[in-house]
Amino acid sequence: LERARKVLASGVSSEFRKYNHPHALFYTHGKGSRIYDVDGNEYLDFTLSQGPLILGHSHPEVLKAVGEYSETGQLFAGQHLKEIELAEKLNELIPSAELMRFCLDGSEAVQTAFRVARAKTGKNKFLRFEGHYHGWMDNVCWGISAPSPEALGSREKPHVFPWTQGLPEGVENDFIILPWNDLSLVRKIVAERAAEIAAIITEPIMCNNGCIEPIPGFLQGLRDICTENNIALIFDEVITGFRISLGGAQTYFGVTPDLSIFAKAIASGYAISAIVGKYEWMQLIEQAKVIHAGTMNANNPTVAAALATIEVLENEQPHENMIRLGRKLMEGLRSAAAATGHAMLVEGPGPMFAISFTSLKKTADYRDTLMADKAKLGRFIAGMHDEGIRVIGRGLWYISAVHKDEDIDRAVATAEKVLKNI
Ligand code: PMP
Repeated sequence: LERARKVLASGVSSEFRKYNHPHALFYTHGKGSRIYDVDGNEYLDFTLSQGPLILGHSHPEVLKAVGEYSETGQLFAGQHLKEIELAEKLNELIPSAELMRFCLDGSEAVQTAFRVARAKTGKNKFLRFEGHYHGWMDNVCWGISAPSPEALGSREKPHVFPWTQGLPEGVENDFIILPWNDLSLVRKIVAERAAEIAAIITEPIMCNNGCIEPIPGFLQGLRDICTENNIALIFDEVITGFRISLGGAQTYFGVTPDLSIFAKAIASGYAISAIVGKYEWMQLIEQAKVIHAGTMNANNPTVAAALATIEVLENEQPHENMIRLGRKLMEGLRSAAAATGHAMLVEGPGPMFAISFTSLKKTADYRDTLMADKAKLGRFIAGMHDEGIRVIGRGLWYISAVHKDEDIDRAVATAEKVLKNI
């Protein structure tokens, strides 16, 4: 830790800083569902490097494909056939993927989607939702910190607060921010401001603060509002993509956006993302009305990793089992909390889910997540770590295709033990 702090700004992962995790987390390697630290300890891993490792660590097929294709030299976007092959594959799998472009990470692809939406609609603003995360680029960073006490003071609706935090005085934000899962509020605001709004962007399942599913009809409602008002519907599938189904949340929920972003799981952690969309939107890039660039885009090891990941997922079809295992773990954690007298909420579809210490029976939106006992969550995460199980600091669990029933059983038994002592 001392060595890191001398040369790396802050020295440690954001997990350690943000959640006051008692341990600095440095690892040597990962294999399957396990990760190993520099002191030689083994952990059962439910963080999966913040989600991408849907096939677990170091999947042999992925490593083999990356190794073999790297030997062709370093080829980049527009230079090699496997990029076309990958695009053809995504076109087959993802309902909205008629045309696409590759970038290096989710944050870049989000920005490209904004550009396309602005160019097509001739409008400038974006509507987004509280608690959703869309990367770390300047424009999206202003809306992700905790709401001010004034903003939180009232839960009366309509409750709109354009986010100007961190911006110099007089500079207007690109975003209108609304609570998630409130369709009538979206309708109201769009009715007032349709002439300004280029896009509505949403995580189809809100995974960055809790793990909150859309209420029935919410995504379809957004779809209708966007169609009626010349607004792009953007699904940020950076977490849900491939994880919830091979065609993303848009397949799972049966609602097709105009544009969507895939990253994390599509290449098992290699640096590639995709902005995919309907022809009428994405052709603006083809026509050079929207600039999209990036020297390293679609570099061949990343494309090979994506193709290998898809091949394994298609051959093994692990989603059903991931859902089963996830739900079994969720149920086990609920029982462990009940047995130890903790009010713990466990929410999510299964392949990913979140826990929070709150007596709420369900979370509707971001503001509900603020009421949970974060200090207790920190103690729980640290306790699990001490027992050899890694969970993301904000209480999110990811299941991979290589987790097994015995991993779930061990996690539940360990959770019960830890819950007794926090
Ligand atoms: N969107 C969502 C929903 C995310 O969860 C993330 C990353 N956690 C991003 C965008 C940004 O992606 P990246 O970190 O690959 O830039």
